Amino acid sequence: MNEFEAGRPLILRGGTVLPMEGREVLTSTDVLVTGDRITAVGPGLEAPEGAAEIDATGGIVMPGMIDTHRHMWQTAMRGYGADWTLTQYFVWYYLEYGKLFRPEDVHAGNTLAAIEALDAGVTTVVDWSHGLRTPDHADAAADALQGVPGRYVLAYGNIQQPPAEWTTAPEFRDFVRRRITGDDLLGFQIAFDVLGDPSFPEQPAFEVARDLGVSVTTHAGVWGATSDDGIRLMYEHGFMSPGAIYVHAASLSADSYHRIAATGGSISVSTESEQSAGQGYPPTWAVRSHGIPVSLSMDTSVWWSGDLFSAMRTTLGADRSREHLEAHAKGETVTHAALRADQVVDWATRGGAQAIGRDDLGTIAPGQKADLVLIKNDASPVSFPLLNPFGHVAFQAQRGDVHTVLVNGRVVKHEHRLVGIDLAVARAQVDRTIDYLKGEMGQEAWDKGMNPDIPTGEVLDNPYTYTDYRSDKTHRL
Ligand SMILES: [Zn+2]
Repeated sequence: MNEFEAGRPLILRGGTVLPMEGREVLTSTDVLVTGDRITAVGPGLEAPEGAAEIDATGGIVMPGMIDTHRHMWQTAMRGYGADWTLTQYFVWYYLEYGKLFRPEDVHAGNTLAAIEALDAGVTTVVDWSHGLRTPDHADAAADALQGVPGRYVLAYGNIQQPPAEWTTAPEFRDFVRRRITGDDLLGFQIAFDVLGDPSFPEQPAFEVARDLGVSVTTHAGVWGATSDDGIRLMYEHGFMSPGAIYVHAASLSADSYHRIAATGGSISVSTESEQSAGQGYPPTWAVRSHGIPVSLSMDTSVWWSGDLFSAMRTTLGADRSREHLEAHAKGETVTHAALRADQVVDWATRGGAQAIGRDDLGTIAPGQKADLVLIKNDASPVSFPLLNPFGHVAFQAQRGDVHTVLVNGRVVKHEHRLVGIDLAVARAQVDRTIDYLKGEMGQEAWDKGMNPDIPTGEVLDNPYTYTDYRSDKTHRL
């Protein structure tokens, strides 16, 4: 018998609960889950007849984390692009090899990404799925998301065609009619970028989104790709709607931030991505003063990790780093950090829920959907002392500390092990995809793609001659 069979109430006992209502922390608190909802939160709750219990003492109970921008299909290429720039990414996926991906390859990437998210306590992911060049690819993406017990938003995209073309194709409408049927675990958005052409060729795609009543998510403020022009065009044509998610928003002017703030959009910050790909500086330090809602995202596992602990950590680091740097340039010293640990935990949970329009996610309170994470690892020397729970989540915890995960009231991970998920099947799928891609590309192109040329440079002349240390002129910069 499954210890956590459907319908059996579940109680998380004695944890440190982060309800995500301001900086509130509830110690030695129980959380009761009945069906797909949280039904009670408090100390010493009476368990209903037959309830399963999970000992949360010494651990942190927080809402499931929400990633608002991840290209899940690319997880099949995990780590391949670790040394890429954005230019190399565009060449590889958009121009050269993205079109090799078959429906089963999209399925393989999505399945692995979906499982990986659950393992890391990410209970909702917006799948920024821009490899859907045929309806079969789209069906494969949706099949994969519905084959794993997490919560997903399929953000439908296709980098191989202009958005005005694929969004107005009958097959696209047909897909939406067939597959987007109100399943609480599968939301829907439309994903495309606005390139700044003054004739605004993206207008028909925005009209389709409006007609379907779905939100648009768009890579905005990406150095060399999308700019203030795209934002201005959206604004002037009346398509900056509440619910729009502006991904990165890293190289935009204050004027664009004003337009986003005024029209009810939010920004999805992918700090790990922005820090190494080159979209622009991770923008939280700038957008904080515009009052724009923020959520966090990981972008793609072709480069980076797929867990929001990294997102929280790097976002705090990038924001504070910039604040210090700006102050030093003026000869000043920052004595009090503006961005706090609880704020990034908020962005990783409640911020994500707000971005996707789900008020029933991202907080812990009676009536909310039971998407929950228990961070607890008694065997780890990092698990105590637990003095500052928000700081602990942001700077101390990692995916290996995710003890239990619930989605929609269902236990999908317990005692650090995934529940009811066959990793071997996912591995076999990904292996087939890698074999196929390697075969199509050839070994040389495969190796070259993974190992871009390293720029050369010279070590500076040094006026000091104390030792020969670092005198090697071919030193890699
Ligand atoms: Zn992206």
